[in-house]
Amino acid sequence: MRKPIIAGNWKMNKTASECAEFVSKLAPQVKDATCDVVLCVPFTDIATMSALTEKTNIKVGAQNVAWADSGAFTGEISAAMLKEAGAEYVIIGHSERRQYFGETDKSVNMRLVQALKNGLKPIVCVGETLDEREGGKTELVNKTQVEGAFSGISAEDAAKVVIAYEPVWAIGTGRTATDEQANETIGYIRSVVKLLYGKKIADGMRIQYGGSMNAKNVAGLMAQTEIDGGLIGGASLKPDDFAIIVNTAK
Ligand code: PEP
Repeated sequence: MRKPIIAGNWKMNKTASECAEFVSKLAPQVKDATCDVVLCVPFTDIATMSALTEKTNIKVGAQNVAWADSGAFTGEISAAMLKEAGAEYVIIGHSERRQYFGETDKSVNMRLVQALKNGLKPIVCVGETLDEREGGKTELVNKTQVEGAFSGISAEDAAKVVIAYEPVWAIGTGRTATDEQANETIGYIRSVVKLLYGKKIADGMRIQYGGSMNAKNVAGLMAQTEIDGGLIGGASLKPDDFAIIVNTAK
């Protein structure tokens, strides 16, 4: 049995002073959740959020991590900095990073190595664009991204990773993959993990769906056998909606 994981991705939203009200609304609604509950927030919110969520079941995550320990990497943030601020999880390779900030399978791999080395729990994002899906390349793209991300990663470390399957055409567009589309591609991704690491690791790996998941469509997606939770952008900014999603993920 895989424990579902619902992770919010606040992207570049909410300042530190906006966190307290959010947590006071969310925490009581999700206190009995049977899934893992994570909020991946902007760097400047991490310390505040980790203090606010200390006595709750909400875990805090970041949205990126540098591949180096320290040094001349202007604008980057190290794993040690994230951990000291209170982050437990980190999103790596989100499609917005790939699209706008030049993230590649190679840099995703380097960041993943660094997260694992430092005991951060990685959520690695993969997913095809609309052109790629319509061009029949969905499987190839996801396979290439998974193989690239996990290059050189041991089975022991791979078992600590959560994958988020996020079709790029469904992110922030209000256009969700159908339950079946999401389930099918996640099943395919699991088969790629099986080829890389064997059945035990593949069966144990949590693979989320991400892409316009919300309070209305979560039940159908979570009813699918391959889907182990969600990475949620827009709907994670609203505590009541996010609570519904969390409490549907059983
Ligand atoms: C995301 O940011 O990973 C995401 C899935 O966003 P949204 O839920 O807004 O589509």
